[in-house]
Amino acid sequence: MRKVDVVVVGGGASGLQSAITVKSTYPEKEVVLIRKEKQVLIPCGIPYIFGTLSDSSKNILPDKPLTSVGVEIIIDEITDINVEGHSCNTASGEIYYYEKLILALGSKPTLPKWLKGAELENVFTIPKNKIYLDDMLSKLSSAKRITVIGAGFIGVEVSDELNKKDYEVTLVEIEKTILSRAFDEEFCKIAEDHLKERGLNVITAKGVAEIKGEKGKVSKVVLTSGEEIEADAVILSMGYAPNTEIAAKAGIELNQFGFIKTCEYMRVLPCSTDIIAVGDCAEKRDFVTRKLDRTMLASTACAEARTAGMNLYTLSPCKPFTGTIAIYATAIGDHAFGTAGITETKAIQENFDIISGSFTGIDTHPGNLANTHVQTVKLIVAADCGMILGGEVYGGSSTGELTNAIGFLIQNRVTVKALLTMQIGTQPLLTGSPAGYPLIKAAEVIVKKMRK
Ligand SMILES: Cc1cc2nc3c(=O)[nH]c(=O)nc-3n(C[C@H](O)[C@H](O)[C@H](O)COP(=O)(O)OP(=O)(O)OC[C@H]3O[C@@H](n4cnc5c(N)ncnc54)[C@H](O)[C@@H]3O)c2cc1C
Repeated sequence: MRKVDVVVVGGGASGLQSAITVKSTYPEKEVVLIRKEKQVLIPCGIPYIFGTLSDSSKNILPDKPLTSVGVEIIIDEITDINVEGHSCNTASGEIYYYEKLILALGSKPTLPKWLKGAELENVFTIPKNKIYLDDMLSKLSSAKRITVIGAGFIGVEVSDELNKKDYEVTLVEIEKTILSRAFDEEFCKIAEDHLKERGLNVITAKGVAEIKGEKGKVSKVVLTSGEEIEADAVILSMGYAPNTEIAAKAGIELNQFGFIKTCEYMRVLPCSTDIIAVGDCAEKRDFVTRKLDRTMLASTACAEARTAGMNLYTLSPCKPFTGTIAIYATAIGDHAFGTAGITETKAIQENFDIISGSFTGIDTHPGNLANTHVQTVKLIVAADCGMILGGEVYGGSSTGELTNAIGFLIQNRVTVKALLTMQIGTQPLLTGSPAGYPLIKAAEVIVKKMRK
């Protein structure tokens, strides 16, 4: 039996970030982080172990950021939480009594129950688990033809990496385009074309109906169209679900999607001051639509964890978590795609009265410098007040950071008109020109439409 000020359960992005934030905000508190795995993978780096990195041991989250600030790491599994008793039990038989408990339990891949053949040998998902992925890498080494089901950003990144290793890769997506939840169609089409140029077989608007096998091992994927694809391995990239069974078992309330209900300070609802949930296991509410959401990102997880850590003992009304903006970027070869907030398609579906505008320029100046890439910025703004609701970027290596800047504009409810007087820094090798800066030019396109 041990008494600890703060117990963090989970060693992923949100566990790590919340433990570090608690230690820096409340240095006098003893913080213990309990996680199942000895070595934690950097989740966003997982797609790259299939190609560029070739090896999962090159993608390990270091323990030093935790240990160097005095967080104690314990490798164990929490099996029960006793909410009334302020304690939790572990698989090794230890009991921890806590003042504050931070649940950073994460998520796991969904395996559709209806999918016949999902249990066959060489059918994989992509959990954040080194042992599973090392075994998968070794089994894939004898495969030639791999079908990836699901073209969200994880399916796209994994497919592109496998393609680098000369597998014959088929990427199947049931929606009309790949990446359709994150981008409007014009961006999705460009991404799809880049994948095809790189030799991937991309099939859209068709779902998986069944996986067939021979002698217990996968041999074919049958699509909803009846088409059959020969496959030595199948990777299901069909989404993730919050890992909240132990919370539910303890009587902690879950929302309709299975996430732990939390307030904007990440405290567990209805009214716990001592149990906090962060990251993929914690309730998400879309910043723009205000609806419950299922987007799970390491960046969101860390933002929630900072909020939770800072507000753990004393609430600050200046530091709530006011909703998920879903900011992320991905790259296909030298081409990058970034998105923040909601797409035009989603905004229309949700009945927002919006105006959108795009501008295509370049990301260096002059344009005949080496490595210049076209840069397209699209903004989606509210027609009545001009508030920026979403942004999408297609470009080169600056795409990720530009997308982050758009995310911060959304978070701070900046209006499109404010961009007309936005002060920026520019440099030939690093940015577009001050006169043709695509973010500002896209704003100009929209403001012109607003005047009409
Ligand atoms: C392939 C892939 C690529 C991704 N790429 C990106 C990206 O580019 N950008 C981005 O923002 N997001 C990305 N994500 C999403 C991101 O990985 C998740 O949002 C992030 O991992 C969430 O962190 P977390 O700490 O909430 O959960 P997790 O990373 O799932 O960690 C959960 C932790 O809890 C531990 N745990 C669970 N139950 C117990 C228990 N009972 N006892 C003890 N420990 C327990 C687990 O062992 C683990 O350490 C990617 C995800 C995947 C799978």
